[in-house]
Amino acid sequence: MSQKPDVNGIRKIQSNKAQVGLESTSYPSRSLHFLHVLNKGSSRGTREDAPQAKLRLKIIIAGAGLGGLATAIALRRRGHSVTVFEKASELGEVGAGIQVPPNSSRLLLKWGLEPFFKDIVVEPATIGFRRWQNGNLIGLTRLVPDCRRAFDAPYYVVHRAHFQNAMYKLALDLGVEIHVGSGVARYDPDIPSLTLENGATHSADLIVAADGLRSEARKVVLQGKDQPPQRTGFAAYRAVVDVEKMRADPDVAWLLEKPGLNCWIGDMRHVMTYTIAAGKSFNMVLSHPEESDPSTWRQETAVSDMKQHFKGWDHQLTKIIDMIESTLKWPLLSGKPLEKWVASSGKFLIIGDAAHVMVPYMSEGAAMAVEDGAALAEILNKINSKDQIHDALRIFEDVRILRTGQMQEASLINGKLWHFADGPEQEARDEAMRPEVEGRHYIESPNQWSDPVTQSWAYGYDAEKEVANAWNTHVSRGSKLWVQHWSNLSMFKDFWRS
Ligand SMILES: Cc1cc2nc3c(=O)[nH]c(=O)nc-3n(C[C@H](O)[C@H](O)[C@H](O)COP(=O)(O)OP(=O)(O)OC[C@H]3O[C@@H](n4cnc5c(N)ncnc54)[C@H](O)[C@@H]3O)c2cc1C
Repeated sequence: MSQKPDVNGIRKIQSNKAQVGLESTSYPSRSLHFLHVLNKGSSRGTREDAPQAKLRLKIIIAGAGLGGLATAIALRRRGHSVTVFEKASELGEVGAGIQVPPNSSRLLLKWGLEPFFKDIVVEPATIGFRRWQNGNLIGLTRLVPDCRRAFDAPYYVVHRAHFQNAMYKLALDLGVEIHVGSGVARYDPDIPSLTLENGATHSADLIVAADGLRSEARKVVLQGKDQPPQRTGFAAYRAVVDVEKMRADPDVAWLLEKPGLNCWIGDMRHVMTYTIAAGKSFNMVLSHPEESDPSTWRQETAVSDMKQHFKGWDHQLTKIIDMIESTLKWPLLSGKPLEKWVASSGKFLIIGDAAHVMVPYMSEGAAMAVEDGAALAEILNKINSKDQIHDALRIFEDVRILRTGQMQEASLINGKLWHFADGPEQEARDEAMRPEVEGRHYIESPNQWSDPVTQSWAYGYDAEKEVANAWNTHVSRGSKLWVQHWSNLSMFKDFWRS
């Protein structure tokens, strides 16, 4: 008879002998990951029964963007009563594609999104970084099967509107109430309550505002001292290309043969591309320097301005750019970590872009909002009484400000790494990425998708476990974990001060 290895059993024997457990390590390591996979199996494709909250709360969410919907799903599946108010009269994400990295897809699949996702997502095999001038491959990360193997979850790309619609359907399926055409006019964080533009007031045990980067709720949390995200000196054109046009041109048709992400990088500019809508559309994000005020941008000249920015780049890329018929230009903003996400009342908070706008260079903005939702649901499962909500939110805030601030930083770092002009830094970067292109062993890389430590931090992050650990540490203060957390936090605060 074959016996299933028992992690706890192994742990007991080990701890008798050597006083260490096999559940986790205090140092960064993935050596114990195989035990986790053995014990838990893969969460792929299942709607896992969620541990139900001991204290069922009435929760209102403002905003049904990707962040608001993810949070609604995460909270509802724990048994809370959830109502969402959305300003727009119908749901419709602007822009085309979005990447869903494993730290986000692992949660979404666990929540039961698989049936709503299966016909609309693409799972790219690789992400390749290409030289601006000739399209030569200079960096390469294998996503299939590596992401599923290492992080128990796929790396997906999807049309934003399809993603939002999938979450909308799942939320309704779980019993979330969603009201569109219901803009919030004002909040009272103390009750807490919100008043809609139609004059109706709704109160709850907790209000979560996911009202995006131009958040009004952020002003409420920061008590009038808003810290809106700042322009970064970059903007992006977003566009889709008809794949039939691409198929007809042998110079570019190869890009459609095997789904993959391809990113051309050069002096102050890059172009990220991938197929979406199950391969029916080709998505492009074209980042370029832009100092002028968005109010002065002219839609009529957007396509020709875009072509001008990439004149002289790889002829394969410019051929695809020439196929673009219309485009939207988007300012790229970034916030700095906020002092707080939770109002002084402890009953009102912000999440998603309202709390942590970042440049899209790690493709993690919405993924952070999904993690916010997961972490919030997990921490609220720890409490037994309404008096503990504030404590729980404080811990949530601490953990999430650190995580999302580091992701803001990583995203800005990609902007530096990708945008070197030709010269010594670019040559050193390309040389350091060469082993991954040539299939040689490497232990570090300027490609943050490949660098093993960055990859593990970005994609291996378990948003639920992190807040659960922080809560447990809070309950038994003085442990080493607490010290480690605070030393991370102070290093991180030093970075943002400098
Ligand atoms: C070019 C680009 C590429 C990107 N690529 C990626 C990627 O590949 N992967 C990734 O993870 N992220 C990516 N992002 C980031 C991602 O798009 C955002 O982080 C994410 O959409 C934020 O979701 P949100 O719900 O917090 O905010 P939003 O999407 O802005 O949603 C806010 C919602 O609140 C509603 N609202 C606002 N005010 C009110 C009100 N008063 N009352 C009621 N409702 C209100 C709005 O109508 C909206 O529906 C990218 C961003 C850009 C700009």
